[in-house]
Amino acid sequence: MRYTRPSDVDGVTAALADGDAVVVGGGTMVVPDMTHGKVRPAAVVDLAKAGLAGITRGDGGWVIGAMTTYTELERSDVPLLATVARGITGGPQIRNRGTVGGSASYANPSSDVPAALVALGARLRLAKAGGVREVAAADFFLGAFRTVREPDEVLTAIAVPDPAGALGYLKFKLVEGSWPIVTAATVVGPTIRVVLGGAAAKPVTVEVARESWREQLRPAVDRVLTEPWDDVLAPGHYRTRIAPVIAARSVASALEEAA
Ligand SMILES: Cc1cc2nc3c(=O)[nH]c(=O)nc-3n(C[C@H](O)[C@H](O)[C@H](O)COP(=O)(O)OP(=O)(O)OC[C@H]3O[C@@H](n4cnc5c(N)ncnc54)[C@H](O)[C@@H]3O)c2cc1C
Repeated sequence: MRYTRPSDVDGVTAALADGDAVVVGGGTMVVPDMTHGKVRPAAVVDLAKAGLAGITRGDGGWVIGAMTTYTELERSDVPLLATVARGITGGPQIRNRGTVGGSASYANPSSDVPAALVALGARLRLAKAGGVREVAAADFFLGAFRTVREPDEVLTAIAVPDPAGALGYLKFKLVEGSWPIVTAATVVGPTIRVVLGGAAAKPVTVEVARESWREQLRPAVDRVLTEPWDDVLAPGHYRTRIAPVIAARSVASALEEAA
């Protein structure tokens, strides 16, 4: 196995150009996968020194380097993501090593980050040798552990615009130490938008009117949750039942925030 630890993005994209290398961010998922032989890469490209960490505030939003850890995020003022980072299970070890870019790239249906990025209207920057593209979070996640990222691309940063309204976030898990079963991120603007994570293979969005959200929310969730996510944490039918409840609580907390 070839191991490289480039010192900039050009070095990373050059090392990925053949398309046979695996990227290591914080390594909390991919290193155990390699240890257990689930991933057997010909080459490994370690992002540790590539200069991809850190959060900058610009006009109209934040740019979060892909290697920004949950610990850095929880100390930041990035809306929603700071809250999400505080609630990540796994303790300080995971929050100190796990990165927002790694979580987005892994696209685990049970992760908090993908749905939060969709709710925020975030855009993900992908670089490869000779090119950069930006993809809306809503288009980035294709399904369980699948994104639009090509093997020769690296996720370099995530742009998060100023929120379009008051925000609410709720995650439901069975015990303190477990991964989320369902998460709900709400944005209260002219309408109410709720993005559910954990409920399906990729984040799902529902939009309801402010004045009649209580009547509209459950049928709206039922309509989009036709194929609930099913795993060792909870069967799909359980997620279908719990999702509207979590969504409603998230909306209530966002409306409280708005008031
Ligand atoms: C005990 C435990 C509890 C956890 N609890 C939660 C929880 O409550 N909620 C939650 O959402 N998550 C949870 N997580 C998961 C956590 O979010 C991920 O471990 C972490 O975010 C992955 O980031 P990483 O940098 O370590 O990724 P890595 O393990 O380095 O990589 C993960 C995948 O993404 C790819 N990758 C990484 N960075 C990039 C990049 N910049 N560009 C392209 N590809 C990249 C890798 O090739 C790999 O396929 C938990 C994990 C553990 C181990």
